[in-house]
Amino acid sequence: MNTDMPLAGGASGAIRAVPLTFHPRPGTVHARAVSGRFNGLRWAMAWFTQAIFYGGVWLTWRDGDVVRPALWMDIAHERLYLFDWVLWPQDALLFAFALIVAALALFFVTALAGRLFCGFACPQTVYTMMFTWVEARVEGKPAARRALDTAPWGLRKAALKGAKHALWLALAAWTAITFVGYFTPIRDLLPRLTAWDVGMWEGFWLLFYAAFTYLQAGFARESVCQHMCPYSRFQGVMTDAHTRQVGYDRLRGEPRAHARSSGAGDCVDCTICVQVCPPGIDIRNGVQYACINCGLCVDACDTVMDKVGRARGLIRYASEHVLSGRAPTAVQPRVKLYASLLALFTALGVWQMASRPEVRLDVLRDRGVLMRETADGRIENAYVLKVANLTRGAVEYVAQVEGVPGATIIGNDRLRVAANSVASLRLTVSAPDDGTLRGAQPLDIAVAPQGRRNAAAGASSRFLFP
Ligand code: SF4
Ligand code: SF4
Repeated sequence: MNTDMPLAGGASGAIRAVPLTFHPRPGTVHARAVSGRFNGLRWAMAWFTQAIFYGGVWLTWRDGDVVRPALWMDIAHERLYLFDWVLWPQDALLFAFALIVAALALFFVTALAGRLFCGFACPQTVYTMMFTWVEARVEGKPAARRALDTAPWGLRKAALKGAKHALWLALAAWTAITFVGYFTPIRDLLPRLTAWDVGMWEGFWLLFYAAFTYLQAGFARESVCQHMCPYSRFQGVMTDAHTRQVGYDRLRGEPRAHARSSGAGDCVDCTICVQVCPPGIDIRNGVQYACINCGLCVDACDTVMDKVGRARGLIRYASEHVLSGRAPTAVQPRVKLYASLLALFTALGVWQMASRPEVRLDVLRDRGVLMRETADGRIENAYVLKVANLTRGAVEYVAQVEGVPGATIIGNDRLRVAANSVASLRLTVSAPDDGTLRGAQPLDIAVAPQGRRNAAAGASSRFLFP
């Protein structure tokens, strides 16, 4: 993508260079509504993603006798619940794989089809769509909204603006409650909220997220995509002339003409593609940073082409290479590289998940007593075992020791641990002191469910002789 001087065709048909602009139109952009394939797809994605976001927080999951949220980041107990899966801080490698896979998926899609994520799935875009939908219901069509913006303040303007902001605030507040509901179970949060009984952090995040949504989606809108989002800045290194993205077929469209005449291109210069554009840019000036690849100008221009009886696709998803009249090329090496890395890290993440242990063990030496000599000539060492049961049911574990000749466990060697919980066992290990071993000797400690040695977890420690 040319980031400096996009080529543009003017009404005369001559190719000229125009400077890249980041503020296509001053003030709020009031884009015209449009219907078509891409607008339908955008709303379908908005419904899909928001049904998951607003609905997911209400789902519950039964773990034995306990009913808990199905999707829950329990910060106090350091657990992430994803339906049947319960992830612990020790699963950080899985999180790392998940982040790498998400980043590679974004790179892959961008290299293949430009900023598709921005136009169809980015929360900023989706919330801006929802907020502008509310705005259009209250204030009317773009022309009426522009007129209202510039009209002097009066009863009507105050009522319309007040109604819009009240609805925006309600939407932002519900979004914030939903967001915090993924950290504090929403069925617990709501009653406390109505009784003004929320904790400091819950209160902070409720206010912060509500204000963030209200300002970002209501006021900042697409300027976030242009000035705040780092992705818009580095997308240029992931795309090239072979990347399919929304573009104007200048060869076919120029020279523009309002009426059909010999030598005129297909563009009738109706500017509807500009009027429907959320960031308010003119795609006929070439690929631009501000374009979020939403496809609304494609819908708009296809409708115009239908009306004037010309073929659709004057604006379409196509690479700059194809739009310049050359034949499509094979899949580019960078796309293949991203696809290979994506497959590799997805496989690694699945393998990591599949090989996740059922139990984890940490062994701490009892720091109060280094060792104890008994009357029958044996040495005793004490340990604290922290056993984490990662399964969905309570399990009784049995401890075993090896590595020091004659070492045995004195007293209790069993521990029952509830599902997805950690419990501690104080373990005393005794070994004969025949004078052959001195100082710190390696000792292996293991725990396993009764009769299931294959599901054991082990840890190394030291046994101290005089
Ligand atoms: S909508 Fe199509 S015909 Fe109208 S100005 Fe845009 S490119 Fe030209
Ligand atoms: S130029 Fe077209 S694809 Fe790009 S943001 Fe505007 S309407 Fe969306």
